[in-house]
Amino acid sequence: LDALVQSIATESACTRDGTRVSLNINTGLAADFEVVRGIDADGIGLYRTEIPFMVRNCFPSEQEQCELYEKALDAYPGKPVNMRTLDVGGDKPLPYFPIKEDNPFLGWRGIRMTLDHPEILLVQVRAMLKANIGRGNLQILLPMVTSVQEVEECLRLINQAYAELCEEYQCEVPKPKIGAMLEVPAAIYQIGLLSRLVDYFSVGTNDLTQYLLAVDRNNARVASLYDYYHPGVIEALHYIAKQCKKYNVPVSVCGEMAGEPIGLLLLVSMGYRNFSMSAQNLLKAKWVLKHISLEEVESLLQQTSQVACPQQIKNLVAQKLDELG
Ligand code: PEP
Ligand code: MG
Repeated sequence: LDALVQSIATESACTRDGTRVSLNINTGLAADFEVVRGIDADGIGLYRTEIPFMVRNCFPSEQEQCELYEKALDAYPGKPVNMRTLDVGGDKPLPYFPIKEDNPFLGWRGIRMTLDHPEILLVQVRAMLKANIGRGNLQILLPMVTSVQEVEECLRLINQAYAELCEEYQCEVPKPKIGAMLEVPAAIYQIGLLSRLVDYFSVGTNDLTQYLLAVDRNNARVASLYDYYHPGVIEALHYIAKQCKKYNVPVSVCGEMAGEPIGLLLLVSMGYRNFSMSAQNLLKAKWVLKHISLEEVESLLQQTSQVACPQQIKNLVAQKLDELG
């Protein structure tokens, strides 16, 4: 068994019938790179840059940020590292930048905050672009995108930082791809418009579920209502996959759902081929993929689309997983 696990760990992720699936890790702490040592990953699908900000007692300087980002880029040389711009607010407070609101999840979070403080965004983007000099594997991901105007404004600031660095270094610094998170429901109805501005999308199922179901992802009282397998969420995820295909724009899934075997199978059945997950889930995900063929998975979507109850959807997929051993 050990030899089998070993071979799965070091091979690229593939289904039994040979379809390549890209598996990346979610990270925020350098310790995550350790967890994954010995298990081949395709890159970092989501680097939550707010995490190093949260463990400090003041904003890290451009230089400090640059050093952190260099480490993340060097952990996966030649492979994409998706750095998300600061996503504070909601459940992620900065001790030195208090935000007091009645409805923080509907409030000043992600790019809403950083667009009101372009000096914070500019320093961060400069640090990312600087770290990427001589490396070239940076991609920049924008959190909590709700409108086209927000993305236009972010792109303007990113271009400004880019122009400054080209000037300072007297050279063309590498230009990163720019992506938008799909986690606010309104964004999924603007995929066509947004795809003209960004190079790719990443679906944040954690927030998308919370906003589609109007259930606070951290409220214990309604925890049983928070469910990625709600038919409304499944339908939305399927719709996103179809829209991205229609507009020919790459899409990945980086919420926790992608790291659960049941979620992963459903997402593969919808056509997703690029995932990012906690490092602990990587080996299990590779194992599951290795044991399924696309044909088997595609019939699942058909079956689950007839079902109204989240538990029944899970049971159907779990049964399939059982059959596959
Ligand atoms: C998400 O919302 O699904 C996501 C990946 O981002 P976070 O959990 O950091 O909000
Ligand atoms: Mg999110």
